[in-house]
Amino acid sequence: ASLDMSLLDGSVGVEDLVLLEPLVEESLLKNLQLRYENKEIYTYIGNVVISVNPYQQLPIYGPEFIASYRDCIFYELKPHIYALANVAYQSLRDRGRDQCILITGESGAGKTEASKLVMSYVAAVCGKGEQVNSVKEQLLQSNPVLEAFGNAKTIRNNNSSRFGKYMDIEFDFKGSPLGGVITNYLLEKSRVVKQLKGERNFHIFYQLLAGADAQLLKALKLERDAKSYAYLNQEVFRVDGVDDAASFQVVQNAMTVIGFSEKEIRQVLEVISLVLKLGNVEVADEYQANGIPASGIRDGTGIQEIGEMVGLSSGELERALCSRTMETAKEKVVTALNVIQAQYARDALAKNIYSRLFNWIVNRINESIKVGTGEKKVVMGVLDIYGFEILEDNSFEQFVINYCNEKLQQVFIEMTLKEEQEEYKREGIPWTKVDYFDNGIICNLIEHNQRGILAMLDEECLRPGVVSDSTFLAKLNQQFSKHGHYESKVTQNAQHQYDRTMGLSCFRICHYAGKVTYNVTNFIDKNNDLLFRDLSQTMWKAQHPLLRSLFPEGDPKQASLKRPPTAGAQFKSSVAILMKNLYSKNPNYIRCIKPNEHQQRGQFSSDLVATQARYLGLLENVRVRRAGYAHRQVYRSFLERYRLLSCSTWPRWNGGDREGVEKVLGELSLSSEELAFGKTKIFIRSPKTLFHLEEQRRLR
Ligand code: ATP
Ligand code: MG
Repeated sequence: ASLDMSLLDGSVGVEDLVLLEPLVEESLLKNLQLRYENKEIYTYIGNVVISVNPYQQLPIYGPEFIASYRDCIFYELKPHIYALANVAYQSLRDRGRDQCILITGESGAGKTEASKLVMSYVAAVCGKGEQVNSVKEQLLQSNPVLEAFGNAKTIRNNNSSRFGKYMDIEFDFKGSPLGGVITNYLLEKSRVVKQLKGERNFHIFYQLLAGADAQLLKALKLERDAKSYAYLNQEVFRVDGVDDAASFQVVQNAMTVIGFSEKEIRQVLEVISLVLKLGNVEVADEYQANGIPASGIRDGTGIQEIGEMVGLSSGELERALCSRTMETAKEKVVTALNVIQAQYARDALAKNIYSRLFNWIVNRINESIKVGTGEKKVVMGVLDIYGFEILEDNSFEQFVINYCNEKLQQVFIEMTLKEEQEEYKREGIPWTKVDYFDNGIICNLIEHNQRGILAMLDEECLRPGVVSDSTFLAKLNQQFSKHGHYESKVTQNAQHQYDRTMGLSCFRICHYAGKVTYNVTNFIDKNNDLLFRDLSQTMWKAQHPLLRSLFPEGDPKQASLKRPPTAGAQFKSSVAILMKNLYSKNPNYIRCIKPNEHQQRGQFSSDLVATQARYLGLLENVRVRRAGYAHRQVYRSFLERYRLLSCSTWPRWNGGDREGVEKVLGELSLSSEELAFGKTKIFIRSPKTLFHLEEQRRLR
């Protein structure tokens, strides 16, 4: 591949934002835009890849491109995700260093596509042989399965991941894949029963209805027409350019490749149809003899079909949906639910079945791709997780998602900046201090063990007596009235400020990326995430082996009085595990950017990109890189590569490594600021110099 110096002269913008002049937000945006318009969607900040979603298939992927990025030096070819994947893989294979690839960005920015590019690159270059190929195939086929069950059409993205995903791919020391582990975070289960205008339920529902043959449809007692189901959005059934029926075949095939048995696939589909049918169960008013409102099931056929499919009587199902048993030490009291409560119970059951099924699928995949504990291995982790979210109305979900992003920002700060700083210190090179915002104080506000918002929410959830979202908010207001990153109507009033954009049931957090106002309505409920015991016990009684296994707590013998951890506590601990995992690895970053709100090619909205650049901390990132040196290499390997450039070091050099490097670079008449000689490494300030060296090397 030839070195294209024209890329540096500004005609399509600079390839590395470290070279940007002047370094301000405006020039950064201009540069990204210029490149985008020239179909150059990738740009570096040092070793960070920025990717701007092209919304079109560009001819820059596939075997030929993989071949040229394979074993290249990072700056040799145009910026590409392949180059990053290559650096990570080489370091893993040649130096045994665990890697992680952190992919962030907002919905529709291209994270999932980026993660698939990384995976396909690695799959193409790692190992050979039948055994290895079958491992690769299983790892790759996990994608369509997880997307079918965990992705949906939203207003922002026709294939939006509604869960966070972290995947460890494990390799032996020769760099051949052994298997992996997938961790999923927080599936958006509310989607199962309700979708916003213009959005759909999870893909699998539509795929099943469109793709099942007549026989399967009949066996599952399903209607072909999605309009028949209350849980499927009643306006949007199709997605442009997507063939649900064809996808259904792809998904079933992928499940088979991974190792799901025919029986297991069938059971999964039965549970999916169960959810659809549950949505059609209508509850109606009934009155008890004493006139107290109760509820009953209006139409018996649906419930009967459900009962037959899973092996429960319709009486049992109706009881579970329409009444609630309270157990005290002495007796059991059964109370009737009114219609609203019964509908709530039905929807809660549907959401729970679906999200537990999703977890089951992830576990099932893990079982197939699991690597024996005895084997020595190196790991590449790929994180594809929701970016910072500011919606019109922000609730518990946004709160935990943004908390996760706050933690990821912390990892970024600590790993990139501190590592950078420490390396300079180690190498004895002067460091110009870069001021950056340490977001530890915000993380603490949310996650502190006793006085954090999550802990206070848990306390409120577990407290006996009358608890409500507003008592929770009142406590927050009291606790954080003086906190610099917390605001509410009450704290504002105390400070004689008035902000009409904030409601009484809201609090606001000043995140690193900006202020977000959260509405506390349903925080308690969502955090509690409890299913009435009647429902779990009934599900556990079902004859259907898969359904039954999803509700282990329904086993009366298992029913301990200890409640399961709250949603917030679970999320916090899984984030903590994730952070620990990331800190133990060498980080590689892909920052994804969405160029416009319309999923359109060729449109670049500066305002939209500016906001994302801020959330991603791009300018800060460049500043740190610039304060330092873009490239560094230990003397020995640098000398190996470039000693042919000088007649004092070529063909023979008998001196020390560092002296050799000094000789080579001494002949280039570079400015003194361009280089720094550390204890073990040479530091080069701009990639330009590296380009120059590479060019010279090629000319020899
Ligand atoms: P979400 O957070 O909603 O899951 P995401 O960041 O994962 O969003 P993707 O699903 O990866 O976004 O990308 C959205 C769409 O953008 C893709 O379905 C695809 O059409 C297009 N797209 C993304 N990256 C590329 C690319 N490199 N080349 C071509 N099209 C792309
Ligand atoms: Mg995604």
